[in-house]
Amino acid sequence: MAGRKFTGDQLLVATHNKGKLEEIAKLLEPYALRVSSAAEFNLPEPVESETTFIGNARIKAHSGAQATGLPTLADDSGLSVAALGGAPGVYTADWAETPQGRDFPMAMARVWSELEALSAPLPRLASFHCTLVMAWPDGHDEVFEGVIKGQIVWPGRGDQGHGYDPIFQADGHTETFGEMDRWQKNEISHRADAFRKLIEGCFT
Ligand code: IMP
Repeated sequence: MAGRKFTGDQLLVATHNKGKLEEIAKLLEPYALRVSSAAEFNLPEPVESETTFIGNARIKAHSGAQATGLPTLADDSGLSVAALGGAPGVYTADWAETPQGRDFPMAMARVWSELEALSAPLPRLASFHCTLVMAWPDGHDEVFEGVIKGQIVWPGRGDQGHGYDPIFQADGHTETFGEMDRWQKNEISHRADAFRKLIEGCFT
């Protein structure tokens, strides 16, 4: 059955991250709608208490829709390493937390040292995941999942991206996400995959 289409002229994006908001607004530009942020409405950041990407994206999308009465888009993303049982998974951002802010070199070193401690065989398979949830104030939602498969490499290479990009090499590519230019990464990434599905499901 076809999913529900977005029909209004205003969409809330349930993120406090300015970069994410700009990226999403740009992708939705062709659909001539007003994109508002959680910060604009002074919305509190809900606790992401679920153990799956879908669960946490649902919490964010529904809490935004309930608080504002607007259809709301939320995302949750992270890195899943096969030999670590899918970790860091929904805790991808948490692995980088320090009292002084996020430290991704530390988080990447933890991924590699846990793989070494297990003597995990090469290649050390991993995937980036992006889940998008569109929720409406009546409680309906539509879920879209994007993924890109690859492997963890060490040492990390490149300084182009963010987060765990330097240690992730996508299947069929010799460069890490950290070495790819943004345009190239944005064509193939988990986020691009999820957005293609969202556009098809809710906006066309
Ligand atoms: P959240 O989705 O903002 O809760 O956080 C997801 C975490 O996964 C962040 O810490 C990001 O650094 C990491 N992450 C998600 N997508 C990417 C990516 O494309 N490259 C590198 N790290 C990513």
